[in-house]
Amino acid sequence: MSMSPLRVVVVGAGFGGLSAAALLAREGARVTVVEKNDEVGGRARRWSSDGFHFDMGPSWYWMPDIFERFFELFDQHPRDYYHLERLDPSYRVVFAPGDAVDLPAGVDALVRLFDEAEPGSGPRLRAFLADAAYKYEAGMGDFVHKPSLSPFEFADPRLLVALFRLQMLQSFRGHVERHFTHPRLRQIVEFPVLFLGATAPKTPALYSMMNHADMALGTWYPQGGMAAVVDGLRRLAESQGAEIRTGTEVLEIPVEGGRATGVLTEDGLMEADVVLANADYHHVETRLLRRRHRQYSAEWWSRRTLSPSSLLFYLGVRGRVDGLAHHTLFFDEPIDDHADAIYENPRWPERPLFYVSAPSTTDPGVAPDGHENLCLLIPLAPDLPDDHETRERYWDIVMDRLEAHVGHPVRDRVVVKRSYAHSDFRADYHALGGNAYGLANTLDQTAILRPRLRSKRVRDLYFTGQLTVPGPGVPPAIISGEVAARQILKDRG
Ligand SMILES: Cc1cc2nc3c(=O)[nH]c(=O)nc-3n(C[C@H](O)[C@H](O)[C@H](O)COP(=O)(O)OP(=O)(O)OC[C@H]3O[C@@H](n4cnc5c(N)ncnc54)[C@H](O)[C@@H]3O)c2cc1C
Repeated sequence: MSMSPLRVVVVGAGFGGLSAAALLAREGARVTVVEKNDEVGGRARRWSSDGFHFDMGPSWYWMPDIFERFFELFDQHPRDYYHLERLDPSYRVVFAPGDAVDLPAGVDALVRLFDEAEPGSGPRLRAFLADAAYKYEAGMGDFVHKPSLSPFEFADPRLLVALFRLQMLQSFRGHVERHFTHPRLRQIVEFPVLFLGATAPKTPALYSMMNHADMALGTWYPQGGMAAVVDGLRRLAESQGAEIRTGTEVLEIPVEGGRATGVLTEDGLMEADVVLANADYHHVETRLLRRRHRQYSAEWWSRRTLSPSSLLFYLGVRGRVDGLAHHTLFFDEPIDDHADAIYENPRWPERPLFYVSAPSTTDPGVAPDGHENLCLLIPLAPDLPDDHETRERYWDIVMDRLEAHVGHPVRDRVVVKRSYAHSDFRADYHALGGNAYGLANTLDQTAILRPRLRSKRVRDLYFTGQLTVPGPGVPPAIISGEVAARQILKDRG
């Protein structure tokens, strides 16, 4: 007797949705991905104007092993889809106008740099990184691939010993302070926790694994930008038989007899045996499901720590802009004041830190010949008003500092300018509070404490993406897709 294939509808074509779709289709499911926007990639979409091609979201390609591991599931390799280059320097940190440090690629060069800034800190960096490597191996292996549906998943004694060693209960800040004294070195070592959407004092020391990702595994660039990675995953999913429908918004997930029966779009009902929601969790629960089918109350959501939102400027600049690396971090203002404006007392920061991505320094394909493609990013508290005047005020603040650093005018050569902030994240992705990176990875929002990957209230409804396990970032979103797909296949025998 032949069994009819499992019908799965995936709501949203972000990294989580695309990776789950590829795996489910490979296992023989009939998969349809339904995406509201006209392009795939979600927050990692591409926007083009006048010959400039902008990655709208992620620009740091970290943890190449995670991408490799994913493609290997299909007996393939990322190089079959895009070309990667390791950046050297990995990035530049500006501490004051004209005063910047380049972080070289490779641990030996970093050890020398640390020793020059603070004699004796080189060997301490090696010890710090050896510990970070252990955490990375354990964390990215055992922990991160758990569906986190029950605490018993973590009840294996070996895991409990590892948990202790992973320093789940110590703060990242304390861990850094025990190793380094120089304020600049501390700032450099603390920087990667920004990717987790939280601050060093509130982040478990476990996440020094991010320093292994940064310093040992390196910062890479896919030619064509993150859009090339999105395109690779789309092609992979389609080659396995998944169908992708863009420009189609899901309006409701109908529930009958306690189970999700498919999705409702403007074109009508698409029936399914399983619905996998990659769209923002809060949107799915509050807009696509009836009240009685929700797992989390408004009050519960209001107590979560969202990751920051951002104000972004996508800029096409005539001619070159000297003085910028591919990635340049402007840490020329106190980080704790800015963090306070994001997490403790939400407001527009008085003196913001910001980040500049200049992919055209590495990739001539993302800008017309001889021109510069820049993206400026200021991390901000979610849920702030982001009117035109405010955006323009911050435009002046960051451009003043950027021009002071590079030592020449840039504003008068800007030929493409688009700003993007809270209201755009809401309109484009239905993002709660206009968040950019989902839900922060704080101690009380890790593993089983994150929104569940499988609904408790509605059978055959699953979730994937940066608001569920394991957390924000492109590699975690891909892992999330894999974990959700495996859970569906397990539950369906
Ligand atoms: C500005 C910015 C910079 C970042 N920088 C980095 C970085 O450098 N490195 C890194 O690793 N990570 C970075 N991140 C984080 C990373 O981009 C995200 O964690 C990841 O892309 C999230 O993928 P996802 O699958 O969870 O969700 P998403 O990408 O948000 O995908 C969800 C999809 O669901 C769709 N959708 C929503 N509602 C509906 C509906 N009703 N019907 C149909 N479709 C719907 C949305 O349109 C979207 O396409 C950055 C993010 C941003 C915003």
